[in-house]
Amino acid sequence: MAINKTEKIWHNGKLINWDDATLHVMSHVVNYGSSIFEGVRCYAPPKGPAIFRAPEHAQRLLDSAKIYRMDVEFSRDELVAAFVDVVRVNQVAPCYIRPIVLRGYGQVGVNPLNSPIEVYVVNYEWGKYLGHGGDGVDVCISSWTRLAPNTMPAMAKSGANYMNSQLIKMEAILNGFAEGIALDANGYVSEGSGENVFLVRKGCLMTAPLGNSVLPGITRESVIQLARDMGIQVVEQMIPREMLYIADEVFFTGTAAEITPIWTIDKIRIADGTTGPITKALRDEFYGIVNGTAPDRFGWLTPVPMRQPVGV
Ligand code: PMP
Repeated sequence: MAINKTEKIWHNGKLINWDDATLHVMSHVVNYGSSIFEGVRCYAPPKGPAIFRAPEHAQRLLDSAKIYRMDVEFSRDELVAAFVDVVRVNQVAPCYIRPIVLRGYGQVGVNPLNSPIEVYVVNYEWGKYLGHGGDGVDVCISSWTRLAPNTMPAMAKSGANYMNSQLIKMEAILNGFAEGIALDANGYVSEGSGENVFLVRKGCLMTAPLGNSVLPGITRESVIQLARDMGIQVVEQMIPREMLYIADEVFFTGTAAEITPIWTIDKIRIADGTTGPITKALRDEFYGIVNGTAPDRFGWLTPVPMRQPVGV
C-alpha cells in the first residue's frame, strides 16, 4: 500500500506540513530503533468520522513510553485531541492514524537518555489489511519465535519489535501465505506479525494470555468484551500449536486486520474452511458499531467534527 500524503502532521503540539516532518539520519531512532507507536482507525459512519478507542490507544502509547523511560510531555487527553486534530485538519476519513514517539537527534551511542523525545501524529487513507472483501486468509506457523520474555517487552508497541514481525511477515509472504502466526519461546501460540489470534473450540472463545508474548491488542480486548456481552464463554489460556489445527474457528484481530477469519493454517483446513458462526457474529457486531448501524453501546467512538462531508 503506497502512502497517500495528507496536508498536515502534528509534531510536539504544532501542525506542520507533511513534507517538513523529516529526521536526521543520525537520529537515535534510525540507529537503534528507539521508537514506540500506535495504529488507530478512524471510521466514517454516516453521522461523521469517529476514532475507534482513541483513549485506549493513547494510553497504550504512554504505557509503551513508560516501559522505555521516554518522558512524553503530553497527557492521554492531549494525545486524543491530537488524533482528532489531524483528521479534522486533513479532512481524510476513513483513515489510519499513526502516532509515533521517537528519540531524535542528540547524542551518538546506545545510551538514549540525551536524545530528545519527539512526538508525531500522522493520518492517511488506508483500506483492508488482510483478506479481500471479508474472505478468510491462508496462514502458516512461522519458523520465527516471538520475542522471549525479558528480552524485548512484547507489551510495548515499539518499532524495534517489528523487526521480528518483519521476519514473520516476509517468510509467510514468500511462501505464499497471507500471514504467519508466531509461537512464543516455549512453543505456545503467541500472535501474528501484527494481529492477535483467537480460536473457537466447542463454543468457547480462546486467546493467548499476555504472558505468551502478545501485544495487549485493543481489538483483542474489544472482541473479548463483545463476546462476553453476547454470552460467549471467553478464556485466556496457553494454546498449543496443534489446537489451532483442530479448532472450529480461528481468526485474527487487530486495528489493521479488524476481525479476519483464518481458513487454513499450514495448508490444514480449519473445520470446513469457511468463516464460522461465532466469527461471523462477532464481526457483525463489531462492524455494526464502527459503521454506525448499531449503537455505540460501549462508548468506543470519539467523534471528529468536520467542516464538510469527506470521503476517500
Ligand atoms: N499484535 C501485534 C504484534 C500488533 O502489531 C498488533 C497491531 N497493533 C496487534 C497484535 C493487535 O493490536 P490492536 O488490536 O491494538 O491493533
